[in-house]
Amino acid sequence: MREYEGKDPVVIERGEGAYLIDSEGRRYIDGVSSLWVNIHGHGVPEIDNAIKKQVDLISHSTLLGVTNPPAALLAKELIDICPPGLKKVFYSGDGASAVEVALKMAFQYWQHKGKPGKTKFVSLRNAYHGDTLGAVSVGGIDLFHSAFKPLLFDTYQAPSYYCYRCELGKTYPSCELACAGEAGNILEAHHEEIAGVILEPYVQAAGGMIVSPPGYLGRVREYCDRYGVLLILDEVATGFGRTGRMFACEHEGVTPDILVLGKGMTGGYLPLSATITTQDVYDAFLGEYEEFKTFFHGHSYAGNPLACAASLGNLEAFRKYDTLRNLREKIDYLEEELKEFNGLKHVGDVRSKGLMAGIELVLDKESREPYPAGMKMGWRVAEEAMNEEVLIRPLGNVVVLMPPLGIPMEDLKKLVRATYNSIKRATEAA
Ligand code: PMP
Repeated sequence: MREYEGKDPVVIERGEGAYLIDSEGRRYIDGVSSLWVNIHGHGVPEIDNAIKKQVDLISHSTLLGVTNPPAALLAKELIDICPPGLKKVFYSGDGASAVEVALKMAFQYWQHKGKPGKTKFVSLRNAYHGDTLGAVSVGGIDLFHSAFKPLLFDTYQAPSYYCYRCELGKTYPSCELACAGEAGNILEAHHEEIAGVILEPYVQAAGGMIVSPPGYLGRVREYCDRYGVLLILDEVATGFGRTGRMFACEHEGVTPDILVLGKGMTGGYLPLSATITTQDVYDAFLGEYEEFKTFFHGHSYAGNPLACAASLGNLEAFRKYDTLRNLREKIDYLEEELKEFNGLKHVGDVRSKGLMAGIELVLDKESREPYPAGMKMGWRVAEEAMNEEVLIRPLGNVVVLMPPLGIPMEDLKKLVRATYNSIKRATEAA
């Protein structure tokens, strides 16, 4: 905070496509999609117009007992694009709230199913699911989470799928996905008391853009089926095309019992999130009035019509600009270019899935020794990048690239070049 106080913040006044424009008129490429939310760029006509039209009708009415057209239409469109088997949508305002909903829903599901002993969750080390206390309880990043330990509920923690720093000391593929196996072992031993497994499919984003080996997700789905445990997939960061498919779980044909969406849902315009589940989970909450089987959870702005209209505009833009198809070329380019980063002296690991990329900087490549926190190497790179009109935000020693999916090819090239040069300059100067 002391450092923050000493600095003049950049004041972003406007946005245009993949660019942010500050109060002094400087233009920056939005290299992390305004914290992983922006999809098609800034100033997208479909989303702008959807919001404007909705403002003229009504900006908010409650979803308790009544409904509104954008919320209902969006629920239908979401179900149409979600993996098969997901049928029911519950709205909240942000990712963390939608995770809370998922946890409470899974917990209460088992109460209704006559298995009240299933009260615990399996989460992963290095996981991040948001900053509210339930979400922090299933988080696994000590830096963010350990201070709050006395306030949290206990979980079973399975290994992270972090191949570069495998905590089991193994190497893919000879490991045969031992990290997934550990999750399976926990379920085998404790499934009677486990309600659900929660994880970020394919990319542990805030944990450092850690990319899972192929097969991991499918394996965990199998264990959940075998041991009668709900699978909750948090696609707040990976959802809406970020990994190259609409949802990351599609890469392995996995349908979760509960899917959590947020961030990119409105194209990065307004706060909105959703917890989406199966008919089976939904049905467990049906009952007579006085049975009170309902899900007692609701947020004031759930299903906000402006946010839902923005989200409908976002999906319209996906169709109109054929966003997922056009992404292929950008992903191929990024993957190819990232290979070159491996040649830099202080780049330890380069990983990506779709347009989510992490470049892990190390003090020593051979021993993989990290830079000490006090060197702030990630930030030094980000500061260098600002001089090249690129705005990025690192996660510790991991330089993150997550541009809007709609970024034009020439801007993507500029972003990648500027990042490469910034890493080179910052690490060589240290
Ligand atoms: N889950 C994941 C995977 C996330 O990356 C984040 C945010 N970075 C959240 C949940 C929390 O979302 P929000 O910040 O909207 O509460």
